[in-house]
Amino acid sequence: MTKRFMLYLFRWQLSTPILWLVVRHLGAGIGATIIANLIGGSIFFWVDRFIFTSKAVELWHFKEKGVCDSCGKETSLWRLAMAPNYDRRDANPKFYCFKCSKKRTDELRQQGIKIRGRSR
Ligand SMILES: [Zn+2]
Repeated sequence: MTKRFMLYLFRWQLSTPILWLVVRHLGAGIGATIIANLIGGSIFFWVDRFIFTSKAVELWHFKEKGVCDSCGKETSLWRLAMAPNYDRRDANPKFYCFKCSKKRTDELRQQGIKIRGRSR
């Protein structure tokens, strides 16, 4: 969250040159400020959307009790359904125990999938 906040503060600094350019050419009147914000808004709508969606939600499915699809142990099970660049919501669901789930997420991390961690 802190990283995203820093990114957001940096993004606000990017709007400084736009404001400065418009104000410099059109003066610091209310009209110039409105124009500057219109320009900024049409650019930063996309930038903000990127900031707030690039770390897409990580979606875990949790089963209180079941049989691990990997080792067959009967325990609490997890399944990663969605992470950035990873979407298995429609796939044949595979549930894993704590240990197998960790092994699986480590494999995915090696493939470059960004996974924060298991949650209910
Ligand atoms: Zn297992």
